[in-house]
Amino acid sequence: MEFKIGLIHGDGIGPEIVNEAQKVLDAVSERYGHTFNYSKLLLGGASIDATGYPLTEETIAEAKTCDAVLMGSIGGDAKTSPWYQLEPSRRPEAGLLAIRKALNLFANLRPAYLYNELRAACPLRDEIIGEQGFDMIIVRELTGGLYFGERETKVVDGVQTAVDSLSYNENEIRRIAKQAFEIAMKRRKKVTEVDKANVLDSSRLWRKITAEVAAEYPEVTYENMLVDNCAMQLVRDPKQFDVILTENMFGDILSDEASMVTGSIGMLSSASLNESSFGLYEPSHGSAPDIAGMNIANPIATILSAAMMLRYSLNLTKEADAIEAAVQQVLTDGYRTGDIYSDGMKKCTTSEMGDAIVGALK
Ligand code: NAD
Repeated sequence: MEFKIGLIHGDGIGPEIVNEAQKVLDAVSERYGHTFNYSKLLLGGASIDATGYPLTEETIAEAKTCDAVLMGSIGGDAKTSPWYQLEPSRRPEAGLLAIRKALNLFANLRPAYLYNELRAACPLRDEIIGEQGFDMIIVRELTGGLYFGERETKVVDGVQTAVDSLSYNENEIRRIAKQAFEIAMKRRKKVTEVDKANVLDSSRLWRKITAEVAAEYPEVTYENMLVDNCAMQLVRDPKQFDVILTENMFGDILSDEASMVTGSIGMLSSASLNESSFGLYEPSHGSAPDIAGMNIANPIATILSAAMMLRYSLNLTKEADAIEAAVQQVLTDGYRTGDIYSDGMKKCTTSEMGDAIVGALK
């Protein structure tokens, strides 16, 4: 089959890790007889350097012609990069928020999976990790809530005052809830809806609407949890979670916590989907400017993001399985980039890790 894939190389380590993911995609196309046509897209700092803006209409229009987009991370060092001298709406991260909105990417999926080979990197005690480790996915609403609400800073009675408003309508909640339940059906069939329903009206609406959606999925166990409790449970007993469904800001915070709990940020993929099968796929980590250009970054999060892209946007399930199995194989064989290295393992560079995964695929 033939597909068009947008590639955003991005900033910092972005170009290095996207190159490795492309190598892996090329190996998949060779092995399974597909054609992947790539289109290079500009976003973030690279786009500012080329056009003065972190996102252009041209990038949005070209992305819409693709079946999916794979991206490295964007952004630079806020203390030293000239991008951060620009006003906030012209900085790299503004481009990312804007492309999510422009492509209507309302569903953010962030798996947090502990590989048995990397248990030593997990900061939790062995008895908490348990025999089988943990394997959860956070489904975060991405285009509503506090980050997209009305905001204002003003002086009230001589006192500086800032307001950010948090609003959701039932349609926004229902469509993300459906995504979460569909994903749960393909996993261990449990959804934990996370909110602050003891305080917030928006959270009470989340509970009401997600309960309605849950009724359509009788096979899925559905539970509600307050966000403060969830933050504790993620370090107390992460095994209990399968799919965590939550709103934008809670998801932002909890997904970073869940990724830290695995101990290896360089391993974690993510996807942002719209209502059709289109998605933007990227590692969960940032552009790591401190190690950019050194060929030492871990490319696995980006390679696993490419696997998610095959699974969710291109519907190539066995090809996605093959990439995930190849990653598992190289870990079992002892290959480690610096961030996941431990004594006795085979320390490798970014490109050597990509080559090893290509080798395992073949
Ligand atoms: P970061 O994730 O880039 O780096 C945090 C630490 O983890 C650094 O020490 C880095 O070297 C290390 N690290 C990250 N990814 C790694 C990898 N693949 N292999 C090995 N080590 C890795 O977070 P930060 O330093 O807070 O942010 C740097 C820049 O990235 C900022 O401009 C930030 O805005 C941006 N950022 C972008 C995204 C995105 O594109 N979606 C997400 C988060 C941060």
